[in-house]
Amino acid sequence: MTQNATNMNAEGTSERWVYGFDQITAAEAAVGGSWDAARGLLGGKGANLAEMTRLDIPVPPGFTVTTRACNRYLQMDGKFPDDLWVQVVDALHSIEEQSGKRLGDPNNPLLVACRSGAKFSMPGMMDTVLDIGLNDEVAKAMVTSTGNEHFVLDSYRRLIQMFGAVVLGIPDEYFEEVLTEARHAGGTHSDADLDVEALGSIIEAFKQVVVRRASLPFPTDPLQQLRMAIEAVFKSWDGKRAHDYRRAAHISDDLGTAVNIVAMVFGNTGDESATGVAMSRNATTGEPKLEGDFLINAQGEDVVAGIRPTRPIEELADEMPEAHRQFAETAKRLEAHYRDMQDMEFTVENGKLWLLQTRDGKRTAQAAVRIAVDLANEGVITRAEAVGRIAPEQIEAFLHPRFDPAALAELQPITSGLNVSPGAATGVIALDPDLAVRWAEEGREVILVRPETKPDDVHGMLAAKGILTSSGGRTSHAALVARQFGRPAVVGATDLDIDLLARTLSVDDWVIQEGEFVSIDGTSGDVFRGKVSLTEGDLDDPHLSELLGWADDISVLDVRANADNGPDAERAARFGARGIGLCRTEHMFFAPDRLPTMQKMIMATTTVERDEAIASLLPFQRDDFADLFRAMDGKPVIIRLLDPPLHEFLPDRDELQRDIADLQIKLLRASGLDEVETLLSSVAQANNLLVQVDAQREANPMLGTRGVRLGVLIPELTSMQARAIFEAAAIVIDEGIPVIPEVLVPLVSDVEEFIRQRLVIQAAAKCVEDEQHIHVPTVVGTMIEVPRAALTAGDIAEYADFMSFGTNDLTQTTFGMSRDDAESGFLIEYLESGVFTSNPFATLDPKGVGKLIDICVTGARAVKPDLEVGICGEHGGDPKSITLARKLGLTYVSCSPFRVPVARLAAAHAESMLADEDSATGRP
Ligand code: PEP
Ligand code: MG
Repeated sequence: MTQNATNMNAEGTSERWVYGFDQITAAEAAVGGSWDAARGLLGGKGANLAEMTRLDIPVPPGFTVTTRACNRYLQMDGKFPDDLWVQVVDALHSIEEQSGKRLGDPNNPLLVACRSGAKFSMPGMMDTVLDIGLNDEVAKAMVTSTGNEHFVLDSYRRLIQMFGAVVLGIPDEYFEEVLTEARHAGGTHSDADLDVEALGSIIEAFKQVVVRRASLPFPTDPLQQLRMAIEAVFKSWDGKRAHDYRRAAHISDDLGTAVNIVAMVFGNTGDESATGVAMSRNATTGEPKLEGDFLINAQGEDVVAGIRPTRPIEELADEMPEAHRQFAETAKRLEAHYRDMQDMEFTVENGKLWLLQTRDGKRTAQAAVRIAVDLANEGVITRAEAVGRIAPEQIEAFLHPRFDPAALAELQPITSGLNVSPGAATGVIALDPDLAVRWAEEGREVILVRPETKPDDVHGMLAAKGILTSSGGRTSHAALVARQFGRPAVVGATDLDIDLLARTLSVDDWVIQEGEFVSIDGTSGDVFRGKVSLTEGDLDDPHLSELLGWADDISVLDVRANADNGPDAERAARFGARGIGLCRTEHMFFAPDRLPTMQKMIMATTTVERDEAIASLLPFQRDDFADLFRAMDGKPVIIRLLDPPLHEFLPDRDELQRDIADLQIKLLRASGLDEVETLLSSVAQANNLLVQVDAQREANPMLGTRGVRLGVLIPELTSMQARAIFEAAAIVIDEGIPVIPEVLVPLVSDVEEFIRQRLVIQAAAKCVEDEQHIHVPTVVGTMIEVPRAALTAGDIAEYADFMSFGTNDLTQTTFGMSRDDAESGFLIEYLESGVFTSNPFATLDPKGVGKLIDICVTGARAVKPDLEVGICGEHGGDPKSITLARKLGLTYVSCSPFRVPVARLAAAHAESMLADEDSATGRP
C-alpha cells in the first residue's frame, strides 16, 4: 500500500522534487544547510555537479531529481508522485533556455543524458543513457544543421543501444552482435571507423532488436524517452544487484537514488572533440600527478568500456594544449575545494572543456597513505585529518602480498566477488580440498575453488594460498575461516560457474580447467585468469612512517610489542613499538639446543639433578634477554616467567608409544649383543620418558599446573629466570645501553601467589646487584588472566608494580571456553548462525571481559592511582579492542611486531572517537 501518498511537506506546500544545478543553495536550505544532507538529497553526482556550477567550473546545464522522489516512487509501487513530472518539464525548460536549444525540436534540438547518482557510488545500479531526444526526424535535421552525419548517426545508434540495454533490459550482446557483424563487413576493428551507411543500417537493425526483445517499438517521443529513463533509474535502486551491493557495503536501503538530467555535450563531433576520465593524483601510488585516459572523437563510455585503446592524459597536452591546461587547473581547484583526490570525467566539444563529474577517487592503500600525507604537507588538510582518513585495514594492506601494479595495469578481472580476507594470491585451481592438500604437498601453489566451503574443507583451505567461492557472504564459513587463518579470499563471486564433474571453472566465455592458474585479490575482490606476479608487503614505506609519527603525536595509549627474540624486538623497534609488552620466555626453551636440558629438569628425580638442569638453562636465557634489551635501547622490556604446563616440553604420548613399539620390533630382530644393549637402553629411556609424560598428564592442562603455580612449586625456576634477567641487564648496562627490565608473573589468581614470587624475584635481583655492583629497580607486575585476579585487583595492587591483561586467557576463563577447541569447532558455527556477532578471541568482548577489566582497573587504581596497566593478549592489535582499552583507561597495548603500525593508527583514532563521544554526551 502507498504510505503517505500525498506530496505535501511539513508546511503543507507541495514537495520540491527537482533542483537545477544552479540551485544548490536552495537544496542545502531545504535540508537544514548541511552539505552532507544536500548530498543525501541530490546524490553524490548531482550535489557535486551543482557544487561545480557554484564554483563557476564549466558544467553543462542540468537538473537533479531528488532521492526523495525515488523513494516516493518506489513506495507508491511505481507511480510518479504528483507534480514530479511537471517539475521535471519545468526544469527541462530552464535547461532549454540556458542552452538555447529545445528537446525534440528538429531545428535546434537539445539532447540530454540521464545518469543515476546515489549518495554513495554504487555499482549494480543503472548508470547512464546518453543522447536522449534523438529520433529519426531530429537526427535528420541535425545532420543538416551540423553537417556531420557520422556524428549524428553514431549518437543515435548509441541512444538506441543504451536505452535498449539499461531502460528496456535487453541483454547488450544482441546489440553487440549487430556491431560485430558491421565491423566485419566494413573490415574494421573500431566502431568509430564505421561509415555512415553502416551506421544507418545499424540503427535500423537496433530498432528491430528492440521490437523483438522488448515487444515494443523504440519510443520516438523525446519526453517519453526521458520519462522512461528516469523510471528505469528509480527501479534500478530496487534491483537485486543493487540490493546485494548495499548489503555487502552496509548502505541503507532507504537512501534512494537521485537522477541527473544533463544537457549533452559531445566528444564525438570530430577531431576537435575528446572525452576522458582522470584522477587528480595517481590512484595506485598516490604520486601527485594527473592520471587518466582520453579518446579523441568519442563518447564517455568508449573510454570506460575499453572498446578502443585509450591514450594517457599527458598526451592531451600535445593534441589540445588549451583544454589540457584548463583541465589540469580545474583538477587542482577541485582537489583544493573538496580537500581530497578527485576522480573526474570530462568532455571537450569543439575545443571547449566541460566537466561531467567529480568525486573523491578510489585508491589503493599505498596511494591513500601517500595522498593523505602529501595533502597535509601541502597544507590542504591537517595532520590529524590525514591520520583520520586512513583506516586500520589500509595499514594492514601494507602487510599483505599484493599484485605487482605494473602487471595489474595490463589486466582486466574476469569477475569479482566479496573481498572478505585481504591480500593477493596466485595458484592453480583445485576444486576439492584433498587435491589442494596433495598439490600443496608437492610444492604447488593452490587456490581452493568451491561453490561454498564447509568444516570438511578446512584442511584444503589451510593448504591453499587463497580461497575462491561462488556463493556465500561476508559471514560465510569460507570468509570466517579465511580471515581467521589469514588466507586471502574472494567469496560470493556469483558469475562463476563451477562444474565439479567436468572439473572446470567458467565465467562468461572463459573456461578454466582444474590445474590452471588463477589469481585472486582478497583486498579488492577481483579475480584474474592466469598467474599475476606478486610483490611482498612493505611496512617501511616512508609516507607510512610519517603518518604514523603524526598518529603517535595524537595518541595517549602507548603501543608496545610482543617479542621473544632479538630479531623480533628489532623489527618491533623499527615499526615504532615503545617497548616490549610481553616476552614469552617459554619460546626460548623450545629451541633444539635447549629442549633436552628442559626435559632433564622436568625428569630430574633428585633436587641436585634438577638444580643442575636449571642452572644450565640460565646462560641461554641471559643471552636472549640481553638481545632484547639491546634492541629496545632503554625502552621498557616486560619479561614473563615460564607459563605453559610442563608436559608441553615433553614428547607426544602417542608418538612415544609408537617409538617404543618400533624399538621393541628392532630388538626382536637384533643380531649382535652390542645392538641388543643399545636398543635396550633406548627402550629404557623411552619408557622413563613415558612415565614422566604420564606423571605430567592433567585432565585440563589449561587450568592445571601452569603459570604462577609452576613458580610456586619450583621457586628455583623463578629464581633462575630472575637472575638471568638481571645478569643480562648488568651486561647491557656495561655496554653503555640503558635498560628497563620488568618482570611479569602469569596466571595469578590470589595475591599470596604473587607475594611469594615477588620475594623470590627480589632476592635474585639483590644477589645480582651485590655481585655486579649495579642498581636496577626491581619492577614486578602481574598478569590478569582469570576473573578472580580482576575481582581482587585491589589486594594484588598493594604488591604489584604494574598489571598486564592476558586477554587471551582472560577471554577463555571468562567465557569458560577453550580457545583451541572453540576456534576449530563450534565458534565458526556460532559466528555463521549469528549466536556471536564477533569472535571474542579477536575483538574484546566489551560486556563481559571488558567489564572485568573495568572492575580490575578501578579496584587497582583505588590503591595505586598511577598504576601502569596494559593489554598483552592478541586483542592488543585489534582496532576495536584498542578503542575499548583506551576507554577503560589503560596505559598501553602490546601486540605482535607486524601489527604495531596498525595499533599505532588505531590508538590515534581512539582519541578522536573518544572526543566525538564526549561531545555527543556533552562531557568536557
Ligand atoms: C594471554 O593470555 O593473553 C597472554 C598474553 O598469554 P598467552 O597467550 O601466552 O597465554
Ligand atoms: Mg595467557
